Amino acid sequence: MSALNICNHCKILVKKIPENITLASEFQGVCNLCVNLLTQTDTIIQSLLNSVKGYEFNTYRIDIQEVPIIATTHLFLFEKVHDIYLKKPPRDLLREHLRAQLEDQLPDKEQVIHSNADIVITVDFSVDHPIVKRYGNFLKVNMAKRKRNKISRENLEKVCRKKNRDNFISFKPTTESLTFDFRFWKRSMLLGFNYNKYSRKISHSNSFGKLHEDNSVEEIIANKVAEHLKHDGHVFVSCGREDIDVLMLGNGRPAVLELKSPLLSTVSEEFLQNIENDINGNHKEIKVTKLRIVGPSHYKWIKSEAELKDKSYRCVVWSEKILTKEDFSIIPQGQIEIKQWTPLRVLHRRPNLERTRYIKNMRVEIIQPHWFVFYLTTQAGTYVKEFCHSDRGRTSPSLGGYLGTKTVITQLDVMNVHTKYT
Ligand SMILES: [Zn+2]
Repeated sequence: MSALNICNHCKILVKKIPENITLASEFQGVCNLCVNLLTQTDTIIQSLLNSVKGYEFNTYRIDIQEVPIIATTHLFLFEKVHDIYLKKPPRDLLREHLRAQLEDQLPDKEQVIHSNADIVITVDFSVDHPIVKRYGNFLKVNMAKRKRNKISRENLEKVCRKKNRDNFISFKPTTESLTFDFRFWKRSMLLGFNYNKYSRKISHSNSFGKLHEDNSVEEIIANKVAEHLKHDGHVFVSCGREDIDVLMLGNGRPAVLELKSPLLSTVSEEFLQNIENDINGNHKEIKVTKLRIVGPSHYKWIKSEAELKDKSYRCVVWSEKILTKEDFSIIPQGQIEIKQWTPLRVLHRRPNLERTRYIKNMRVEIIQPHWFVFYLTTQAGTYVKEFCHSDRGRTSPSLGGYLGTKTVITQLDVMNVHTKYT
């Protein structure tokens, strides 16, 4: 019988070597027991320290992810075939090594084991590799990617326990070393602000290639922020949105830019003021105000309740008939209720539904014959363009309907988003 090739770490883990077993005097290649999970400890530490370099953080957590099927199979293989038992699984020893060495190497940081760390680094051994499938076939468990995480260690142990010594003797364990990768998570930084948009050529956000606008509010702000604050991807969320040809005026629309894995955790007011000045100084088509760090509750609020807020608009309208002051007296004062079927222009991508919305504070300013400015405040989710021109009767009542003439909306601007944060 050939000697068992196990690494020096695993030698320490073994409770007792039976007399009939010989260990290879010098470890080489792949450890029969830990499949080189433990032999890579020093490399892992070095890579870990490199990956956190430059990041600002106070607390950190280290996790290890492996495919339990390999560890469990090897554990039982050693028990059933060689009668070798371990003091603890190799993964536990690796975790202890990593924790102890990082304590030494990062003396001014606090290592935590709870979920609330500034940085979480996962050493990931979860190989997507034919060997995993082969182990699955041996134990007759489905190792398809989707099912893999649902198989508990306890279940695997149960399956292994049922197999006898001969089953394990016939199994050929892998001769390939496990390889690791890192998953790195750092708490996001949430930048809150209000934005104004003064151009009808830039859109609200990046639009997955459907429109061909050159630029968007999201892109302009995110690109500038990235010049000041290094991070790894962002999410842009705002309190509703406006169409590309609509200006956003007044106090601006509240929004949040979530910066993922930012290098810095804290920034001064002065630093933020600099970013704000840089955006506003270089992009006349938008304006950012009140740039600040916000908490998760603000972010949640923007995401959820934002769509419930009233908005005020200004529309420039052309009417087929020349209208006088008296013609406009028919427009109701106070709040009215309207019914809107899904607009024709978005019908191809949204279900055809009727919705009820309210409109209030309607006011008109005549500019010249055929032309007037229409001011109104609407419930969030109202299709304003359609309320003006009636969308072939799909919105009722409508401005055109009240005035008894064809109306065309030529310009639309958001004057205000009515939120407690503006
Ligand atoms: Zn080993």
